[in-house]
Amino acid sequence: AVEVHDVHKWYGAHRVLDGVSLTVRPGEVTVILGPSGSGKSTLLRVINHLEKPEIGHVSVNGEPIGVRRHGGRLREVSERTILSQRSRIGFVFQNFNLFPHLTVLDNVAAAPVATGRLTKPQAQDLARELLGRVGLADKAGAYPRQLSGGQQQRVAIARALALRPGVILFDEPTSALDPELVGEVLAVIKDLATSGTTLVIVTHEVGFAREVADKVVFLDGGRIVEQGPPHEVLDKPRHERTRDFLSKVL
Ligand code: ATP
Ligand code: MG
Repeated sequence: AVEVHDVHKWYGAHRVLDGVSLTVRPGEVTVILGPSGSGKSTLLRVINHLEKPEIGHVSVNGEPIGVRRHGGRLREVSERTILSQRSRIGFVFQNFNLFPHLTVLDNVAAAPVATGRLTKPQAQDLARELLGRVGLADKAGAYPRQLSGGQQQRVAIARALALRPGVILFDEPTSALDPELVGEVLAVIKDLATSGTTLVIVTHEVGFAREVADKVVFLDGGRIVEQGPPHEVLDKPRHERTRDFLSKVL
């Protein structure tokens, strides 16, 4: 489970997250919608402690991320502990962020080896299995630049899975893709969703949200304006700002 406890984040005088609380239960899929600048990426970055909130904190499976309790107060943990915590939270970016100089197989195998969890042969076996799962078994020896955007994003998903994360965060995973490549990436994410992986997905794909999300969260101005099952938030939004946003993206 992911729990975001009353998170506030600001840059200088600019308040980007203004008291966000959110629970994602194990195996649930949460889709975050909201206009540009509403704080969606910042929220994901706070979840894996790429950004440190000024107030509030995040727990994953009951463990606070980046902080520890000390006599009732929260203190920073070491960078090494943060890295280890972060390795249990998958992150898939809009622009894939693959290692250009590594083959597809080694992109997927790299992290389990670097973190000392698997030997290189074990990691490569796992990578082959995961590439099969995302439909790219035949691309193991290719380099990222030899793949389409949709294929690169599926490699990025296999790479996130290689650390057997408790949750995977997706930041607009299809928005850099040509329209004809969006479906193949959404199909892979849907497969993860139906197999019980905990997912938090920022996307403007409202149809996908309706099909896959257990919960839809609408963020605006750094606050959660409303949240609930897709048939409520998407089909019967209660707030004017949600209706206005949906009328623009649908
Ligand atoms: P988009 O849909 O365009 O990706 P978003 O909802 O993901 O938008 P964020 O990227 O979270 O929005 O940004 C929220 C606000 O915080 C924006 O106004 C942005 O300019 C600001 N912001 C984000 N990162 C920083 C930073 N490192 N320094 C200063 N301001 C920042
Ligand atoms: Mg963003």
